[in-house]
Amino acid sequence: MADDVTLGDLDRPDDATTTGVLDAPGGDTDDIDDLDFEVDPEPAPEHDGPAPRVVVFDVGEVLIDETRVWSCWADIIGTTPFTFAAVMGAAISQGGDHEDVFEHVAPNVDWHEFEDEHERRYGGFRREDLYQDVPTCLHELREKGFVVAIAGNQPLRRNEQLVALDLPHDRLVTSAELGAEKPAAAFFAAVLELVGAPSPDQVLYVGDRIDNDILPAAAAGMRTCWLRRGPWGQLQEPPEDLEPDIVLEGLGELPLLLSQWRGDA
Ligand SMILES: [Mg+2]
Repeated sequence: MADDVTLGDLDRPDDATTTGVLDAPGGDTDDIDDLDFEVDPEPAPEHDGPAPRVVVFDVGEVLIDETRVWSCWADIIGTTPFTFAAVMGAAISQGGDHEDVFEHVAPNVDWHEFEDEHERRYGGFRREDLYQDVPTCLHELREKGFVVAIAGNQPLRRNEQLVALDLPHDRLVTSAELGAEKPAAAFFAAVLELVGAPSPDQVLYVGDRIDNDILPAAAAGMRTCWLRRGPWGQLQEPPEDLEPDIVLEGLGELPLLLSQWRGDA
């Protein structure tokens, strides 16, 4: 099994002997040249097999902060965003999802009837919905020569909204276009075709959900990066027999980790 890599490991190497610059009081670095400066670079994480060369990103809670999505729903069914989010967390912890929130908070409301109203209020993806680390991560990955694709469970109308965000990418597709939704194996098979049908282990799927992203991507033979943000990323846990290749709390470290895995100097 590949080693688990976490952001914490990178930030706080146990055996780091680097001193001087970080410890210099008040930012005064005049004496640095006089220090016996010893740096033990942290060894690159061990992975089984070659690094992936294609990186495929999920959308919700990986690229897009969905706070506005659920706040709009809270407003429509007459509760607060705080209550909606809390009940959503409880539902996720019990293996449920947003459908359970509607059943609990507004049992007499058929929320499907309000989908058009929700879309009117939500208005689609906006630049401010992007997690801040997204543009830089995608840019750096492409600079390093990785193929970047975006593929999530989204309705057709989100495609042009994603394009309008002007993110660095090579391929972009929604589940509606693919005709298959996660966690179905057909979704991941279609994604492989989209990126040129490489060997699945040359593809890294980046997702926040164990059930919809990590498990089915691993079952498809892909490498996996579990992004622990958003409610699913915070609350779900992988089964004991599944270890994601990379575990992160943000996307900032991903380009470096992948280039280390590739063996870049
Ligand atoms: Mg997601």
